[in-house]
Amino acid sequence: MAPLASEHDRARRDAVEIVRTLRDHGHAAYLAGGCVRDELLGLTPTDYDVATDAVPSAITSQFDRTSEVGAAFGVVLVHHARGRVTEVATFRKDFEYGDKRRPDRVEFTDAEHDARRRDFTINALFLDPLEPDAARQVIDFVGGQDDLTRRLVRAVGDPDERLAEDHLRALRAVRFACRLGFEIDPRTADAIRAHTADLAGVSRERIGEELRKMLTHPARARAANWLQNLGLDAPALGEARSDAAPDVLGGLGEAASFPLALAAWAIDRHGLGVACGPAWRDALCLSNDERDMFERILETLGELRGPWFDLDVAGQKRAAAAGGFAEARALLGIIDPSRAAGLDERMDHLATIGMGMWPRPFLDGAALIEMGMQPGPVFARILNGVYDAQLDGRVSDRAHAERLARNLSDGSGV
Ligand code: ATP
Ligand code: MG
Repeated sequence: MAPLASEHDRARRDAVEIVRTLRDHGHAAYLAGGCVRDELLGLTPTDYDVATDAVPSAITSQFDRTSEVGAAFGVVLVHHARGRVTEVATFRKDFEYGDKRRPDRVEFTDAEHDARRRDFTINALFLDPLEPDAARQVIDFVGGQDDLTRRLVRAVGDPDERLAEDHLRALRAVRFACRLGFEIDPRTADAIRAHTADLAGVSRERIGEELRKMLTHPARARAANWLQNLGLDAPALGEARSDAAPDVLGGLGEAASFPLALAAWAIDRHGLGVACGPAWRDALCLSNDERDMFERILETLGELRGPWFDLDVAGQKRAAAAGGFAEARALLGIIDPSRAAGLDERMDHLATIGMGMWPRPFLDGAALIEMGMQPGPVFARILNGVYDAQLDGRVSDRAHAERLARNLSDGSGV
């Protein structure tokens, strides 16, 4: 696989080529938004966006392969080799956010107005990659460079008005502050606090998407603290406010999944054994897989805090192979380290019994048919019985497995 850096270099080169082409045709064009912020901070941007005064039809006419995701909003995708894509957006002003999802209509405009419709000053910078004098590359209409230096997330313009337009910006402020390790400007934070109830007007999908990004980031505990501190936890999760310290959440390793992070935060907020799966599924628009995993992790944790230790060998191995076990083990390590140590010891021991933790089954349905048995519901019982015996070491070769299968089938009258 190519190293990440070169993938990123190509993305930048693609964007710079687009800027050059647009400029050659007499248009203004810059790198814009998140990529400028990240470059100035010395971070690797996730993607490079271009902003220009060329209208969508002028953009599409200058590149071979384009598609219009949101031409009405002035966004054109320019396609390059190997599936690489650059988003090219016409400078625009937004009007009324009627459904709080996207502006009702846009009007094409100049760079300055485009900067002013952006959410935070650090996201409203342009960069001219063709300007040879580095000191003059950044185009800043809103004081974004100062805020980068002061490490502040600050709304562009009047924070109350900007939040009223789109309250999702409250969650975006938290996400950027956490990810970048910035503070939120006090006036912006006050505006967020004053309008927490407005978050209810934002679609559950968008709220869930922001929480997914925050909670899968290593700074997730900081995000939870900010959300609770700003009073955004209640409207985001659709439940009462909490000021419980997110200690379990903070104890997770860097790469925790969304369901694991949710499980950890649920323990912090509600204690152990409280099921909030259905409520959080609705509030955060979780996928069924995410919701199932979230609930499985908490259920499995409940087992690991006691009942699992009383299971027989096969039962323990089966539980250990099931989804959510590793995640539940991670949580146990945070809330009850000595029991987690006991679990690890038991797991090491289990690995020495029979044919290890998850051996390949000797028999399957086809094998039973080959042995002359009639397929039917009883197959599952026989195969489970044989596999249990394999797991707890009573059966260690195929002939033995077949003998046991016959015994089990006789016992059931097949
Ligand atoms: P990321 O690295 O997470 O993609 P980003 O800054 O690129 O960060 P995007 O959500 O990709 O963020 O949006 C691109 C740019 O569009 C932002 O930098 C910002 O200028 C503008 N923007 C995005 N969402 C909003 C919004 N809800 N209100 C105002 N401006 C927004
Ligand atoms: Mg982006």
